[in-house]
Amino acid sequence: MLDLLIKGGFVVDGTGAAGAVGDVGIKDGRIAAVGRVDGEAARTIDASGRVVAPGFIDPHTHFDVQLLWDGAAKPALAHGITSVVPGNCSLSLAPLKAEHRKALVGMFQQIEEMPPEAFTEAFDWTWEDFAGYRNAIEPGLSINVAPLVGHSVIRLWVMGPDANQRAARPDEIAAMQEVLRASLDAGAVGMSTSFVDMDEHGRPVPSRFAAFEELDALSAVLGERGRMLQIVPEFYATDITIARVDQLAELSIKHGIPTTFSPLFDSRFTPDNVPRVLARVAEQFARGAQVWPQMQTRPIDISFSLLRPSLFFARLPRWVRILRQPLDQRIAALKDPETSAKMVEDAGPDGGAAMLADLVVRGGDEAPAHLAGRKLGEIAAERGESCARALIEVSLEHGLDVAFVAASRGHDATDRIGPMLANPLVHIGASDGGAHLASFATYGDTGYLFSEFVREAGALSLEHAVQKITSDTARIWGMKDRGELKEGYAADVVVFDAASIGRGPEKPAFDMPGDGMRYVRDSAGVDAVVVNGEVAWESGRYTDAKSGVICPLN
Ligand SMILES: [Zn+2]
Repeated sequence: MLDLLIKGGFVVDGTGAAGAVGDVGIKDGRIAAVGRVDGEAARTIDASGRVVAPGFIDPHTHFDVQLLWDGAAKPALAHGITSVVPGNCSLSLAPLKAEHRKALVGMFQQIEEMPPEAFTEAFDWTWEDFAGYRNAIEPGLSINVAPLVGHSVIRLWVMGPDANQRAARPDEIAAMQEVLRASLDAGAVGMSTSFVDMDEHGRPVPSRFAAFEELDALSAVLGERGRMLQIVPEFYATDITIARVDQLAELSIKHGIPTTFSPLFDSRFTPDNVPRVLARVAEQFARGAQVWPQMQTRPIDISFSLLRPSLFFARLPRWVRILRQPLDQRIAALKDPETSAKMVEDAGPDGGAAMLADLVVRGGDEAPAHLAGRKLGEIAAERGESCARALIEVSLEHGLDVAFVAASRGHDATDRIGPMLANPLVHIGASDGGAHLASFATYGDTGYLFSEFVREAGALSLEHAVQKITSDTARIWGMKDRGELKEGYAADVVVFDAASIGRGPEKPAFDMPGDGMRYVRDSAGVDAVVVNGEVAWESGRYTDAKSGVICPLN
């Protein structure tokens, strides 16, 4: 007898093949039959009028810490995501010696905008090595996890405080190879590194001090099993990004490994960025390299308040410094005429108009209703102040709890992005789920793929879109028996309504440890999510299923 029978849905199997009405039978966590399935089942889900597809896979997240108290990586699971890759951008929670925890938390705080309380209040930090981290999360998982190990923490483990001071000696490189090998033994899907990120003191993260020999030696270890190398390139500069593509291609060919870089953004200000990078990627694939650019589906928007600053001010060091202070000191600094005058000056000769005039007030707990939805430029003109001055004063008048959103800051031209997403060499990902908590809600990128690029623009067929975030992802990352509705494969399944799948509006949630606020989005049009044969989300609710695993790899 089957454990679960999903009956009468429009089955899209993940391969890109045309969908057809049929059934999916599940037994012992695996897909037992696809097509017309007769016979008894302990439970039957009527999927008529719905799409039945493999669970979606998100290859770029930072759920490392959230997974310790939330095995569903909420709300990712509700959006149909059944597997996530954490540990991106050179940062993972293991291997890490106890004495380096503070340094790592500082990096997560700076780069991924996660509150320090998330690391100190919500769990017991008992592990040091990668196997220990795996053991800490695995029992509570409702979602599958294919974790990367971070280059910066491997360096910290071996070099201690020298990790962000200098290049490694040959004996240290050999030690790093051992640590990486042990992490791969414990289930890591590959290694991540970063060429751009900085810690909370504005110093480059440890991975940026690696000489090429070090990356080469670590890639050789990845090559022993054909595992992934993920990097964050200098994405703001096309020429440097192209140079990184070439470097990744060398490593890919030499060591027989897949490589991926993220993010790759389109922008109306740099319209040839993506075409030029993709042209080089295509050349390198033709040579036999695997260099997968990751592209997100959603437009870039960034929210912030002076109460909960985000990466919005990243280019204004004085603002970053002042806004990072404890609340009473921050308010005192903003009220100090001399300090605030310097901040206004830093915002630009136009008083910050170019950067700030288009900001829209979202409304926070304290924000007055008459400001919500209005542009800062209008409010400033009314008050006879510069934009930067108005931003500071309006915030001070409301306890700093006035949230602003900078909407459509790039990657928002559907007619350009659609064909890019459809490109077979473009890897859909880079959601950054679990990070940038107070800047934007990344959840719902998969829903947006269907609502915007399948339904509205017709840039991809339903079957193609499903393929891009299921079997393509599983193949690129070497996830064993996942990403297709095929007999014998892991039974990760999502049932959704093609006519309504999408993403809900961005809204604040207060479900993080400490005073942690984050922006989230509810899913839309997703009926049921099955992870390894168990229903993990259904009719708007998470179930008690804990059937997630650390993904077995090829
Ligand atoms: Zn990232």
